[in-house]
Parts: sequence; C-alpha cells; structure tokens
Amino acid sequence: MRVFESPQELQQYITEEKRKGKTVGFVPTMGFLHEGHLSLLRAVRPDVDILVMSIFVNPLQFAPSEDLKTYPRDIAKDQAMVEKEGVDILFLPSDESMYPSGYSTYVGEIELSQRWCGKSRPGHFRGVTTVVLKLFNIVQPDISVFGEKDYQQAKVIAKMASDLNLPVTIRTCPIVREPDGLAMSSRNSYLTSEQRQAALALTNSLDYAINEFRKGVRQGNYLIQAMCLYIQTQDNVKLDYVACVDKDTLSPKEHVDVGDRLLVAAYVGETRLIDNKPLTLE
Ligand code: AMP
Repeated sequence: MRVFESPQELQQYITEEKRKGKTVGFVPTMGFLHEGHLSLLRAVRPDVDILVMSIFVNPLQFAPSEDLKTYPRDIAKDQAMVEKEGVDILFLPSDESMYPSGYSTYVGEIELSQRWCGKSRPGHFRGVTTVVLKLFNIVQPDISVFGEKDYQQAKVIAKMASDLNLPVTIRTCPIVREPDGLAMSSRNSYLTSEQRQAALALTNSLDYAINEFRKGVRQGNYLIQAMCLYIQTQDNVKLDYVACVDKDTLSPKEHVDVGDRLLVAAYVGETRLIDNKPLTLE
C-alpha cells in the first residue's frame, strides 16, 4: 500500500495510471475506521484496479461549535486495517494542502442540502460537497462508495455528481450495525457505557415506527409522532429531528409507502448521532 500526503503527487500518479487504462475505486472517510468503512472497501475492491481510501477530517464541514478538535483519530490503527482490505493507496492530506491560505472556492448543492441535517448543521453539506469534489478531482475515481449511514449525504453527493456531469459512478452501501442494532459510527467512541445504552433509542425508535407501518399505519405524521414519543421517554437522549421522507427527494411524506425512508438525529449527551431505515413489510 502506498501512502500519499500531497494532493498534487497523488493526482499525477493517478493520471499516469489511468492513462495506462487502470480503473479507480475511491472511499472517502474521516478515519477512526470501523466495519462500516471496511464494508465500503469490500463493495468496490473486486471491480477496480486501484483502490484508494482517503482519511481527512474536513474542517470545512464542522461548525465552530462542533467536534473538529476532539474528532477521534488513530492513523496507525487505520493504516493497518485498510492494508488488510487490499487498499492500494491511502491518501492523508493535511488541512494546509487541501485549503492553503487564501483558499476561496466552494461548491454547494442547494435543494437536498437544505433539509434535515442541513437545517441542524448550516454549512455542513457545503463543506462536504466542496471536499468531495476536490477529492474526486485529485483521485479521479470511476466508482466512489458512500454509506447509507449518512443517507442525506449520499443523496447530496449523487446529486452533485449528476448535476455537474462528474465522470464517476456513486455507489451506496447499507448501514453496518453493532450486534444490538446501534449503527456503527466513529462518534460512538465518545459515549460512556450509560450513553451507549441510551443511544439504542435511535435504532429502536426506527424499529418501533416500522412495526407500526407493518401493522397498517400509513400516515407519515403518525409515524413521526410515535418516534418522537419513543425518544422523548428515554433518559439522556435529546431529539434533533425525526423525518419520514421520499427516498430520493428527501421531501416529507404524508402518506407513506414501502421504500420511503425514516430519518432520525438525536443528541446523546453532547454527541450527535444519526440513523435511518427504509419502510419495509418484512
Ligand atoms: P465518515 O468517516 O464518518 O465520514 O464516513 C465515511 C463513509 O463511511 C461515509 O460514506 C459513511 O456514510 C460511511 N459509513 C460510516 N459509518 C457507516 C456504517 N455504520 N455503515 C456503513 N457505512 C458507514
């Protein structure tokens, strides 16, 4: 596995490899890797010649009040994990190499990004689309893979790729969960054991609403209410939002059907967690 820190050097290397006809798969991450990240690598490894993972805690997508400074990091451990997955290139750019002084160009998707997490975290998706477009220009992937864990993010990136005619296929992968159902997340490492238990309220509230759907409930508002009530009864959990949305437009659904998506965001202590599931009949 080769490690690159310089965007210019990586871009040049990939350009040469692509000229030889090599295909490139790309998994962007913020590191502190877990099985969820590894599942994205496994989903593309067989389909490409060169597999690239980036680890970059992107300052642009954090608000001043958020956890940029404390975001968990362990590059040595991450490096050992991805080496085992057959990653060819690990890209570890510095903040300065991505945003040198005087940096002044941003890209924003302005429809899907306004909703849900976009409302709670103003500027977040602009930071995400800006860094992902930069990374795409450096890595030049044929296929890039994102997790449904960040469902809205995956939709925003797919929309950017389509709107801007980017020559990349966006692939999405299902959420990898802990045995008890908690969606894996680097931020779970912030949780005390008591909070770790409380965090189950997110996945459990989704299951509760899906169960109501399976019993015949079709009113989106009823499902939202059920999830809100479920979460509000849990100690140590503060609801951010609950939504019942069309799986593509992310607009709220009044009358729900199979395939629509439930989204939830909540604070457990200081830690903001997100989760989502599709409405299914079994
Ligand atoms: P992050 O490092 O949190 O920015 O995540 C990097 C990529 O991994 C994103 O595409 C996430 O959606 C994806 N990811 C994070 N957690 C999971 C998970 N539990 N299951 C599947 N994908 C995940």
